[in-house]
Amino acid sequence: MTGVIDERCRSSLHHHDSGDRVHASAGLLDWEASRFRRAAEELGLDHTTMCALHCAARSIEVEIPLRRDDGSLEVYTGYRVQHSMARGPAKGGVRYHPEVSVASVTALARLMTWKCALVDIPFGGAKGGVPCDVELLSREELRRLTSGYVRSLLPVLGEDVDVLAPDMGTTPETMGWVLGVATAAGRREPSIVTGKPVLLGGTWFRPKATGVGVAHVADIALGRRGAIAGARVAIEGFGAVGRSAAIELASREAVIVGLSDLSGSIHAPGGLDVSDVITWTETGRPLAAYPRAEHLEASVLTVPCDVAIPAAKEGTIDGTVAREIRARLVVEGANGPTTPEAEHVLHEAGIRVVPDLLANAGGVIASYSEWWQNRRGESWTEADDRAFVLRRLERSWDLVAWLDPIAWRSRALAIAMERVASAMGPGGEHTSLRSPDGIVATIPV
Ligand code: NAD
Repeated sequence: MTGVIDERCRSSLHHHDSGDRVHASAGLLDWEASRFRRAAEELGLDHTTMCALHCAARSIEVEIPLRRDDGSLEVYTGYRVQHSMARGPAKGGVRYHPEVSVASVTALARLMTWKCALVDIPFGGAKGGVPCDVELLSREELRRLTSGYVRSLLPVLGEDVDVLAPDMGTTPETMGWVLGVATAAGRREPSIVTGKPVLLGGTWFRPKATGVGVAHVADIALGRRGAIAGARVAIEGFGAVGRSAAIELASREAVIVGLSDLSGSIHAPGGLDVSDVITWTETGRPLAAYPRAEHLEASVLTVPCDVAIPAAKEGTIDGTVAREIRARLVVEGANGPTTPEAEHVLHEAGIRVVPDLLANAGGVIASYSEWWQNRRGESWTEADDRAFVLRRLERSWDLVAWLDPIAWRSRALAIAMERVASAMGPGGEHTSLRSPDGIVATIPV
């Protein structure tokens, strides 16, 4: 058994660092492994513990036949990687994006494990997805694709096993479809999925939680709460995370000087009216065509600003982009947006980087609260949910804030890895759950 773990580990831990040259998703696997190795060395972990911590508990590939609206049949591949269940059920989003691969979901599942451990919620880590372009599928096709994906995975999903959530390309509506499939199969577990519509047991705060958390972390990382007022912020990605971060930052009187999405980037040195931009895009018009701003070819993160927030996808800040960034602070709203080379460039330039596992953890903290409320039949107010998420982020921020910023990521990772390692029994299992109010519950794994 150890030999098997060692063999599998060798392939993930002993990958050559491919820097920024490879495709971002494959790169993310290498970047995560090199960061993991550094933190493991810092902790002085022995090789067996390193392997046990890094290997995925389960990695699944499914084939999903999809009937298109025109009657033709296409077969899609779906992935789900359950990296760790040591601290509780595996937890992580479902991504619909052309670049989804087993490599990308493996790296993202590991990141979820570290994130949940850092913010001290009793979940492990998972990630899944389907390589597809949501722009090319109708709503009905997406519903059928989701049904096929969930039906195939249902035997290994469950509120105590693996809990799904939204990610790039999926929405609360998608999570509602997930719940519908589970319920139709006789699985009456609303907490099998979080990020659901409120009518189905979701919470009002969950859709905003990641972006609000990113804005809050940016605010406190500037020095003190409220420091963001008047600060200039550029945000890359105007989806679930980027948009809610922009709304929250504007409400804290930050000046949003740049925004971007797949259509392109816009820049307004004097500040953009975020609600006007949202009204513009909500009527189906491309962000890049927004008339009351300049249009940019370069990454929006390179505009003159105090805070740069990547909130699109992995690897968007490579060495070249990093050399052009003029912000004081980068707050990683996306997962894995900064390559190791870029991070080095930013540190050399004195630019601080708040790592993803802390900066964007608001979403999974809110997912935990939703999961908890579903299980207890409770319904918290949005204000209570928000306070719970922000408090938990502040507590995690305090663990690293006093350090030299160069050490933020590796220290955050090391804290998380230590917590996961100490929760692992001989077989990597753990059954003890702590509630938000400190009560201990026991769940079967
Ligand atoms: P989304 O699909 O809602 O939005 C993604 C946005 O990024 C879209 O506006 C898209 O046009 C834009 N985009 C894609 N590629 C781009 C590029 N190269 N340049 C500029 N813009 C680009 O996705 P999301 O849920 O907002 O997720 C964004 C990131 O945040 C992902 O890395 C995701 O893993 C991470 N994240 C999401 C959550 C969550 O709760 N949704 C939680 C934690 C982390």
